[in-house]
Amino acid sequence: MENKYVYDFSEGSKEMKSLLGGKGANLAEMTKIGLPVPPGFTITTKACNDYYDNGESIREEIIKEIELQLENLENNLGKKLGCNENPLLISVRSGAVFSMPGMMDTILNLGLNDISVVALANATQNERFAYDSYRRFIQMFSDVAMDVPKYKFENILDRVKESKGYKFDTDLTVDDLKEIVEKYQSVYMKEVRKKFPQEPREQLMLAIKAVFKSWNNPRATVYRRLNDISHDLGTAVNIQSMVFGNMGETSGTGVAFTRNPSTGENKLFGEFLMDAQGEDVVAGIRTPQDISTLKEVMPSAYDEFVKITSILEDHYKDMQDIEFTIEKERLFILQTRNGKRTAKAAINIAVDLVEENIIDEKEAIMRIEPNQLDQLLHPIFESSALESAKVVAQGLPASPGAGSGKVYFNAEDVVEASSKGEDVVLVRLETSPEDIEGMICAQGILTARGGMTSHAAVVARGMGKCCVAGCSEIKVDEYNKEIRIDDIVIKEGDYISLDGSTGCVYLGEVKKTEVALTGNFEKLMNWVDKYKTMMVRTNADNPRDAKAAIKFGAEGIGLCRTEHMFFDEDRIPAVREMILAKTLEQRLVALDKLLPMQREDFIEMFKVMDGKAVNIRLLDPPLHEFLPHDDESIKALAKTMNIEVNEIKKRIVDLSEFNPMLGHRGCRLAVTYPEICEMQAKAIIQGAIEATKQGAKVHPEIMIPLVGEVKEFKLIRDMIKATVDRIIEEEDIDIEYTIGTMIEIPRACLTADEIALEADFFSFGTNDLTQMGFGYSRDDSGKFLGEYVNKEILEKDPFQVLDQKGIGKLVKMGVELGKSVKPEIKLGICGEHGGEPSSVEFCYNIGLDYVSCSPYRVPIARLAAAQASI
Ligand code: ADP
Ligand code: MG
Ligand code: MG
Repeated sequence: MENKYVYDFSEGSKEMKSLLGGKGANLAEMTKIGLPVPPGFTITTKACNDYYDNGESIREEIIKEIELQLENLENNLGKKLGCNENPLLISVRSGAVFSMPGMMDTILNLGLNDISVVALANATQNERFAYDSYRRFIQMFSDVAMDVPKYKFENILDRVKESKGYKFDTDLTVDDLKEIVEKYQSVYMKEVRKKFPQEPREQLMLAIKAVFKSWNNPRATVYRRLNDISHDLGTAVNIQSMVFGNMGETSGTGVAFTRNPSTGENKLFGEFLMDAQGEDVVAGIRTPQDISTLKEVMPSAYDEFVKITSILEDHYKDMQDIEFTIEKERLFILQTRNGKRTAKAAINIAVDLVEENIIDEKEAIMRIEPNQLDQLLHPIFESSALESAKVVAQGLPASPGAGSGKVYFNAEDVVEASSKGEDVVLVRLETSPEDIEGMICAQGILTARGGMTSHAAVVARGMGKCCVAGCSEIKVDEYNKEIRIDDIVIKEGDYISLDGSTGCVYLGEVKKTEVALTGNFEKLMNWVDKYKTMMVRTNADNPRDAKAAIKFGAEGIGLCRTEHMFFDEDRIPAVREMILAKTLEQRLVALDKLLPMQREDFIEMFKVMDGKAVNIRLLDPPLHEFLPHDDESIKALAKTMNIEVNEIKKRIVDLSEFNPMLGHRGCRLAVTYPEICEMQAKAIIQGAIEATKQGAKVHPEIMIPLVGEVKEFKLIRDMIKATVDRIIEEEDIDIEYTIGTMIEIPRACLTADEIALEADFFSFGTNDLTQMGFGYSRDDSGKFLGEYVNKEILEKDPFQVLDQKGIGKLVKMGVELGKSVKPEIKLGICGEHGGEPSSVEFCYNIGLDYVSCSPYRVPIARLAAAQASI
């Protein structure tokens, strides 16, 4: 069937979605299983692409095929398009491969003209209905096919209703409708500068072209971009004989879901409207009735409908979203598809379907979109409250959740206000590690700069705290403590609300609800664990995050960043002392102060992670990040260290770098300051020993960051080993530990075979690897990456979704080279990508042992890992 472009509904099936579109394939399927579907045919997506390939015109060959199918339809029904006796009316309906609800356009009642409208009135003995259909057709055709704005028609309708004192469209009389039809035609004349087309075949071709064109309307394009739907799939066009819900009190139209789409409850959910057509139900002109009342209004149609809904659900083995019309008590089904649903409903429905023996556990796992789980793991705004809330700006949805509070512009003020019991939002140009405490206390974080992997974003996600980052529309004036957005000014202490899932910033307080993790969530996650083979660890820097992650099912720590422990209030002075020390002796004094604190951290971590692996990374960031910037803190530091203020300032200048991310950081610190590394090694192993003594099972993994050359690794590894082994020997205790490296510099991937000979494990640090592989600064790329995605240079922000082609190739090379010399080497990933579903699948495919991600993404990664292995 190489050159077939048009299929009768009786020729297709649900498997032919990519050719017939979702709507067409399902209309065909329903026809096949004997449901009451008005007959019709589908013009394929292939024809749509052909239309675009031919400079937006439909080839003669395809037009012929359409005409043949139309004749066929006319013969079957004994009606003719545009006929002056018993006219055939049809709908022209778009139907893409993936459902794009309401995104594209549909025309009803096509075939009406000044003559056939009279014929229709005679044939149905219902003049009112005929003219009602005609006025609807003129409006839809003008809007969809000719771009005449809808409101021009609505104005006329409203004016007639107003002058007659009518409340509803159904109050209009035949004469009113005739008058409206005439006025509509003159609007058409005025706008299009042509008479309203009277020739039905001309109407049809214009309508088909309009549907093809609607594939590229802005609404549809944006929707596809948001939902990752390819732009070159094209849309099919369904031509279907009309049935009429607007034939009076025994007719109607409606929409229903076989189960509740927001809770998943197994109960028919929907609405209908009597004496109505098409979109009247959703248009809100009259208030529709609940589907359950159809039982009283029209019991036989209701019973049949209920029967069909369960046939459809059984057939598709999933919750269905069904459109129907009743014409003079006769029921017709006009559409079915798998219904969209919230995460909560998705889980409840999938688990229920397993328990009803309709699908198996694996299928249930595949039914849930991993990213959707995010909705369940954070508090959210009430949807009714959101409707009336005012959006004042939009930034990047950096960390999901809902947060409202009074705005404050620095961490200190946030901490103070929150200690008084206020709900607070931290607003900053961008956050720095010094803001951590403020971030912990805040309900949400808003920054004007920075991307999805900026400090604020990463830290907030780790905490499961709502964050909107890179909101460039707002002007943050930290000095005067106010935000300006155009002419709106938000002052310190004013309320705002942030939606970290959409990036929206609202004025005032929006009401929130907590989503409870139901029993079905647990059930599903148990199945997930049954089928997944790759481990899921978490990135956690403190016992609080570690505990949260275990609750979400983390099987170990894949990354504990020790520097985050350095920022706590009680240790930052000692850290600064260490950094500013002029001599080794001075540094050792400071390190001695830090040692017991780090040891305490690790004891706690090991105890929380009892029995699970804990991967601890040695100090990584450039040292100047720890130094004070304002005069006051510098003065205070000078006092504690008993040195001159100027001396401190001088050292700060000495430490500053042009390119800190490529500067003196990572293992380079251990090379130049071995004593820092030794202190950390000591703290780790002493912590492990103490935790063991207290009854915990420990599995420490010591990770050296930023290695690019095996000799760096060897030097530091030997130093750690000497320190650790000495302590173990002194303590006479048996503790197993491993030493490995983060692979985050391209050169490390290229020389992974050399490194693997020395290292016990690799953990791919794909944040830095992406930064260095692309040469995009993580902290500045927000400025241009958006445009790169818009201009389709990049499909996705590579800091969010692993670039499998380039950066992924580096990872794969690292894996293969590493395994070639040491097949048993342990492999993991600890970049942000470890919690992103498509990247998780990639990690599974290249044979990693585990992924590690922030605590709140652990369930998402578990689900994605299970899906990868099914
Ligand atoms: P959408 O994709 O926006 O849902 P549809 O093609 O489903 O658009 O059309 C919208 C509505 O128009 C349908 O839900 C139905 O009520 C009405 N409709 C479409 N085709 C017919 C038809 N042949 N007979 C009666 N009503 C129809
Ligand atoms: Mg529809
Ligand atoms: Mg790194």
